[in-house]
Amino acid sequence: MADFAEVAERIWVARYPWFDVNVTAVGGERGLLVVDTHGSAAAAREVVDDVRRLRAGEVLGIVNTHWHFDHTFGNGTFRSTFGTVPIHAHENAVSELAEGSGRLKQRYVDDPDDPHAADVIGTEVVLPDHTFSSARVLDLGDRAIELVHPGRGHTSGDLVVRIPDADALLAGDLVEESAPPYFGDDSWPMDWPLSLDIVLGLTTPASVVVPGHGAPVDREFVETQRNEIGIVAETIRDLAGRGVPLDQALDAGEWPYPSERLGAAVARGYEHLPRSQKRLPLL
Ligand SMILES: [Zn+2]
Repeated sequence: MADFAEVAERIWVARYPWFDVNVTAVGGERGLLVVDTHGSAAAAREVVDDVRRLRAGEVLGIVNTHWHFDHTFGNGTFRSTFGTVPIHAHENAVSELAEGSGRLKQRYVDDPDDPHAADVIGTEVVLPDHTFSSARVLDLGDRAIELVHPGRGHTSGDLVVRIPDADALLAGDLVEESAPPYFGDDSWPMDWPLSLDIVLGLTTPASVVVPGHGAPVDREFVETQRNEIGIVAETIRDLAGRGVPLDQALDAGEWPYPSERLGAAVARGYEHLPRSQKRLPLL
């Protein structure tokens, strides 16, 4: 059980210990929009109970900030509880989830001692059915909510949710508070800083920003994280430009985050850099 805490007007965030992940409920005249659904059918049953205890209305729709299972595998539980409510996501998040969910379940098949293994493996994956490519507005009656794809970053299909009347923004895993930002083998490290510039453009100095993991932050925090991710990208560009081979790049760079977390970032960055910016090592 987690208590939904109101972080801005009619915006409640519950923070769950498994993955330290946030689920946010946004209230409007017509009901609730729930952003992210946690990591398994069983985990989402707890979230549904917590949403009900909030007594802020029925769930009208779901948003998935990106495809990762700790944000999407609860979709089916919400559907079986609240009916066939629309599930909104960026179009790339749908294909990534369709493609990646089997791989993810396999990870738990290979690690049967994980206490969540049976729940994750047994979860029926429900794909978002309302997609968009750049932006969409959802009408909650007295409140308009914007879904914006700021570009690639943590994944190719990240979205942020902006609630203009409350000056609040739900950032998904483009921003993390309780750990360094996560660069997986589906991340876009060279694009991520630029996408965060777009996100910053949607905020004010007074904005409340809810990260995918951890406590709410302000714009200044996002600026700092944008600069750190920018250093990761520029370091990758510099190493590749100097012809440092990929297998030496991690040790050769000076990073704002522990280097053991950046293996995928460097590999992806090398892969994504245009040829003209990579120099072949001199033989
Ligand atoms: Zn994620």
